[in-house]
Amino acid sequence: MTPTFSKVVFVVLVIGWYLIRYEYARRSRREQILLSARGPRETALLLISLTGLGILPLIYVATAIPHFAAYTFHPIAAWLGVFFATAALGMFQLTHRALGRNWSISLDVREGHQLVTDGIYRRIRHPMYSAFWLWAIAQALLLPNWVAGGAGLVGFGTLFFGRVAREERMMLETFGDNYRAYMARTGRIFPLFF
Ligand code: SAH
Repeated sequence: MTPTFSKVVFVVLVIGWYLIRYEYARRSRREQILLSARGPRETALLLISLTGLGILPLIYVATAIPHFAAYTFHPIAAWLGVFFATAALGMFQLTHRALGRNWSISLDVREGHQLVTDGIYRRIRHPMYSAFWLWAIAQALLLPNWVAGGAGLVGFGTLFFGRVAREERMMLETFGDNYRAYMARTGRIFPLFF
């Protein structure tokens, strides 16, 4: 395990995620939107998340900037990062497959929107956000730089905490008691078993 290999793993994670979502993003563009919680606030949250999970770490991979924030590379941390990155990609595959045409980059309810409560959604309400947390942890473990490594946790954390309650409100408005019951038997990002 070398610092270079560890950077390659991070780039593979980004490309893998992009390939998984590409097909769903293309298909979901064709679906009519009935209700949307998009707006300047959602756009800002998306940009912050994109910067933290993508732009800053990719600048670091390409240029080692910011130099002042570098620290010593630890192979064991990087191996753990490989594990988290693999788990993140596996989760993305499962969540995209389960959400299908109900997927959205932002907060939308589509015509004929189905509430998905099966598969990976059975015990977790926001497994795609779990997958992004796994990404952010992988990034922190793979990139030995306080800024580039930590940016994912800060950037995605901002999106997550700024969005998830509004998303659940939108789901409650749309699916009412069905979603209320679903909330009672699931956890937000960790599975609920009881
Ligand atoms: N928060 C979910 C989905 C992220 S994609 C997750 O982390 O897995 C965001 C879109 O998913 C939103 O537009 C919302 O309408 C939709 N959505 C969220 N939960 C859903 C569910 N259980 N079934 C169907 N669509 C859902």
